This record gives sequence, structure tokens and C-alpha cells, in this order.
Amino acid sequence: MAPLLLKRTTIRQVARIYEEFMRGFPTPHALLSAGEKDVKKIIKPLGLHNKRSKELIELARVLVDKFNGEVPCDKEKLRELPGVGEYMVSEVLLRACRKPEPLLDINMTRVVKRIFSVKSAKKNPYKDPVLWSFAKMIVPKDPDLAERFHFGILDLARKICRARDPRCDICPMKDLCSYYANSVRGRKVSTALSSY
Ligand code: SF4
Repeated sequence: MAPLLLKRTTIRQVARIYEEFMRGFPTPHALLSAGEKDVKKIIKPLGLHNKRSKELIELARVLVDKFNGEVPCDKEKLRELPGVGEYMVSEVLLRACRKPEPLLDINMTRVVKRIFSVKSAKKNPYKDPVLWSFAKMIVPKDPDLAERFHFGILDLARKICRARDPRCDICPMKDLCSYYANSVRGRKVSTALSSY
């Protein structure tokens, strides 16, 4: 349920209600038997609580009806769940099922495009199947390494490979990075040459 709680809100907000939510509704069966009113009361601080409580209860209903209350560790089955998009499918597979899947959001997309010079013709590249396939290839096959890989990408994206003003000079990836080779290093070389 956690990925659904995280939709359109922040980790910090979810952390405020998560323990109470899990105490109240530890399983899809428990969530389904609870009234919408009880669910709304707990998730109210997240906002959109009317819509969100309906989505959570509907998800619990499908999990109970189709999967006996268990979250399936199968990509196609996860895609059948209401309100579950491609990113959430990957997140469940990676974190709950320990399968090495990419978590291709805006941040990972930016880092991957810059380092590997991968192009996308889509308006929203993080939804591009081509980029998903590419990202899948670079995720380590070991599940523990795959998790650490994603934490590393998140850190890199947030602190160094920022959307505006990437801090290439201090980046540990700069020797492998196409963006750095083509723009930053290229600029330095041409500046050095023009000073002769
Ligand atoms: S060298 Fe620059 S563009 Fe490349 S990954 Fe690092 S910060 Fe991003």
C-alpha cells in the first residue's frame, strides 16, 4: 500500500501517518473490511483523502478478490492492479519482491540521459519504453546491489546531477559521463585552446 500512499505527496508526509495506517490496516483484508470513514481519518494529512481512500479500498478489493490478499511478485499481475502504474510495478518488484527492476522517475531519467547520452523522442522521457529497457540493462542483477544502486542514483540526482546547474566538477561519474565529455570538458578544452 505504501507506493499508493506516496502518490502525489511526499515521503515526509507519509511518514507522519504510516505507522498508524499500518496498525489500523495491516493487510488488504483489514483495509477492505474497514469503512471508508476510518481510512479517510488516518490519511487526511496527505490531502486528496476522498479520492485516495477510494483508491486504497479498491486496490485492497482487487488484491483480496484476485490474489487472496497477497501482493503478486509478477509484472503482468501487478499491472492489473488499479492505480498501479509502471513505476509502482517496478518499485514493488524491487523493494518487496527483491527483483532488480529500474525505478525510472524524472531524476533517474535525467542522470541516465546525461551519462549515457540516451535519447528519447517522448515528451515525458520517464514514460518512454526505450528508456525503461535501457535502464533495466544497467540495474545490477543482485537485489541488494540494485537497491543501493537506486539510492546512489537518487543521491547523485539530488545533490550533484541537478536539473539546473549540475555540479560536474565534483561528480564521481564525470569520467564516464557523455554530457561532461561533450559539454563541460569540451568547453574547457576550447577555452584553453583559444587562450593560445
Ligand atoms: S558529470 Fe555532470 S552531467 Fe554527468 S552525471 Fe555528473 S553531474 Fe551529471
